[in-house]
Amino acid sequence: MTVEVKPAQHFIDGEFCDGEQQLTFPTLNPTTNEVITEVAEGTAADIERAVAAARRAFRDGPWATMTVQERVQLLHAIADGIERHGEELATLETLDTGLPIAQARGQAARAARNFRYYAEMATHLTGESYPVDHTFLNYTMRRPVGVAGLITPWNTPLMLSTWKIAPCLATGNTAVLKPAEWSPLTATKLAEIVRDAGVPPGVFNVVHGFGETAGAALVAHPHVPLISFTGESVTGKEIMRNGASYLKRFSMELGGKSPVVVFDDADVERAVDAVVFGIFSLNGERCTAGSRLLVARSLLETFAERLQERVRHIRVGDPFDEQTEVGPLIHADHCARVKAYIQSGEAEGARVAAKGTNPAHLSRGNFVPPTVFVATTHDLRIAQEEIFGPVLVVVPFDSEEEAVRLANDVSYGLAAYVWTDDLRRAHRVAQAIDAGMVWVNSHNVRDLRTPFGGTKMSGIGREGGLHSFEFFTEWKTVHVALGQHPIPRFGDQQEAEEGSALSPKQK
Ligand code: NAD
Repeated sequence: MTVEVKPAQHFIDGEFCDGEQQLTFPTLNPTTNEVITEVAEGTAADIERAVAAARRAFRDGPWATMTVQERVQLLHAIADGIERHGEELATLETLDTGLPIAQARGQAARAARNFRYYAEMATHLTGESYPVDHTFLNYTMRRPVGVAGLITPWNTPLMLSTWKIAPCLATGNTAVLKPAEWSPLTATKLAEIVRDAGVPPGVFNVVHGFGETAGAALVAHPHVPLISFTGESVTGKEIMRNGASYLKRFSMELGGKSPVVVFDDADVERAVDAVVFGIFSLNGERCTAGSRLLVARSLLETFAERLQERVRHIRVGDPFDEQTEVGPLIHADHCARVKAYIQSGEAEGARVAAKGTNPAHLSRGNFVPPTVFVATTHDLRIAQEEIFGPVLVVVPFDSEEEAVRLANDVSYGLAAYVWTDDLRRAHRVAQAIDAGMVWVNSHNVRDLRTPFGGTKMSGIGREGGLHSFEFFTEWKTVHVALGQHPIPRFGDQQEAEEGSALSPKQK
């Protein structure tokens, strides 16, 4: 499909607009590093306008008085729009990020599902009641919090932003989205879809720009009580520091260095499939990528051979080619960073066990050949740090205890994958690994109801299902007296003294 790519403007108060300072920056095609279009560069003034619009919509606009049913219909209308424009959204995503088109289509479908899922959930939201004998009825309800700042990364930008926008709007909040500067296109198209769905002005706003300026202004804004952030752990720390003075509520979905632990009794064929898909899908730019393969020593050579065979045949190339499995990385800077990790692995003495090939005819793109290292120790940078590219490091282990120790020997704790046919060991290891999510004999298959998020440097809080609603709502408790319960009478000393002056008989 060919799409018309317009300059990416901000979307504020229901209208597309340039920034107050008329600044722009280019977004680049990762396959060629040519400019796709110009993007409005947001400043604090643009954030100010967007937050003011979102605040008005939250307090005074029709959003505030709408019934849940009306809101839910709008969310379904957004999902309809995403589905109608699914091919265009996938095309824009591939153009902007280098995600292979087949995978970008999957992400667009999931974006629509995110809206339908949270629309459905919103209709089931209830409070609780606490009857207290015959004296009180206490009840609770969930209230929307206000304006949410949604700050998203460049990997799967459409899917990740809708994963925040849908629960945010479903619960009656309004939003200012600050998309990643390297991938602004689908956010702009989404704003058009939201507008055309009939969502009132100000409910959903997009301000493009850089993290240190537009993002930081959103985080520091006193009228933005919620910050939902997905990105690097270092950025997450900075954001929490910057928002601390207003006691904001943060959701932090951060980096990962997730282990795949394969025991000697595992179904090797399926485990190989899952390992290869887990690290090389989404170009390796996946927060839950299984980027460390911890394998029973007896399986090491088998695995190394299988991986070599598979990696050699992985189709690296033009992300618009339907057959492509790995496309170019998002940006030349990120590409250089990933290549530097590969050099560091070689310099630190890890063995390159498998390497794919770059497409020769696309020499200007940000291609990195899928690479598998085998290391004998776990303290190398390639085993400890998040590379966020198509690079796998394999480390053998000799016992279950060692496997668990290595799995936990990183600062991250997002996901983990365990492969074994021993039921008891599967549960033991799943419980012993310090990670927010563990898959047993499975690759990353998500059920939208389950909590998504990590431990340690991988984040704070959970998204998914009711957990997103926990973040986007405030509990309010109402205490209702049903009768004449005793109330201590402070300041009524006179009566008390007069009463005590009476003789017991008089009383
Ligand atoms: P990043 O932290 O560089 O940027 C993320 C967003 O934060 C961007 O929109 C950026 O402009 C903004 N930002 C940067 N500095 C800011 C500041 N000081 N104040 C406010 N906003 C600021 O991350 P990235 O490179 O875009 O994305 C890759 C990272 O995201 C990886 O670490 C990956 O693991 C992580 N990630 C995590 C999950 C998860 O669910 N845990 C999902 C996807 C990606």
